[in-house]
Amino acid sequence: MDSSVVKQQIAILQAIADHSGAVIGAKDLDGHYLYVNQQYGRLFSRPVTDFIGKTDAELFPAETALQFRRADILAQQSAVAISVEERVEVDGVEKEFLSLKFPITNQQGELFATGLVAADISKLKELQRQLQNLADHDPLTQCFNRRRILEIAELHLKKARRYQQDFSILLFDLDHFKQVNDQYGHATGDQVLQGFASKVQSELRKPDDFGRIGGEEFIALLPDTNAHSAVALAERIRVKIADWQCPALNGGQVTTCIGIAEFSLQLQRMDELTAAADHALYQAKAQGRNCVRMY
Ligand code: GH3
Ligand code: MG
Ligand code: MG
Repeated sequence: MDSSVVKQQIAILQAIADHSGAVIGAKDLDGHYLYVNQQYGRLFSRPVTDFIGKTDAELFPAETALQFRRADILAQQSAVAISVEERVEVDGVEKEFLSLKFPITNQQGELFATGLVAADISKLKELQRQLQNLADHDPLTQCFNRRRILEIAELHLKKARRYQQDFSILLFDLDHFKQVNDQYGHATGDQVLQGFASKVQSELRKPDDFGRIGGEEFIALLPDTNAHSAVALAERIRVKIADWQCPALNGGQVTTCIGIAEFSLQLQRMDELTAAADHALYQAKAQGRNCVRMY
């Protein structure tokens, strides 16, 4: 190729690199920078010439440098581009990048560098987390929604089966809740539900999970908990709720029934466990409400 064509090609590649919006760079096999584009320099608030000849270890915190180096070595050993998600702290802000790293060979086919093209996906990732959060939580009480809590229950069940661990569930149904709505209005009913959910959650341990499975029905998942301990906990919660002077009801009382079921040879599946706890709950209601029953 004649040299003016080569120069033109370089100018074109340079423009593409600088206007692509991507972070682009190349390093030799020992990790010294051979090239970075304008965006790369801007990202780390350094002139591009600052990078040339330096390694990531000289430019970034040790952990970041090690992360980059590992992916570079992977790319050196690979025939094609590899894609990695990298977290980098930039000016005290954690950013996430989707990076393509690839081997670069000379005309003899000898490897001499690795290249990288990275896109800042921080905003996308944050949006993804927000969406996931919305998909998993009940908007009123902020606890897990039905779909998510039942999904989590399956994980607890799997563990209980595999390691033969205890596992119990508590099913809650607020007493005479229709009357609360009728007497105070639906908005007040909503406030009661919020207060109830937060009160119950404050009584649970860290490994426990809590979710709303229906209108005024909730479930607590208690890993490593046998029937005996589950009854004790349920009783404690029942009393705590009954003693609560609910602000939304001007200090009025709220009560709940709690049905309990324990994972066993007979109750292996979630639908079996919830049916059992539901049965116990029904008995609690029949016994006059504000009470706890074990299946
Ligand atoms: P019981 O003691 O037998 O459980 O009586 P109950 O009135 O609580 O039972 P029922 O299931 O008949 O009524 C539940 C009520 O919960 C009816 C419904 O209007 C109310 N509810 C369900 N979801 C919500 C909600 O999101 N907000 C409010 N404010 N009320 C709700
Ligand atoms: Mg109900
Ligand atoms: Mg009810």
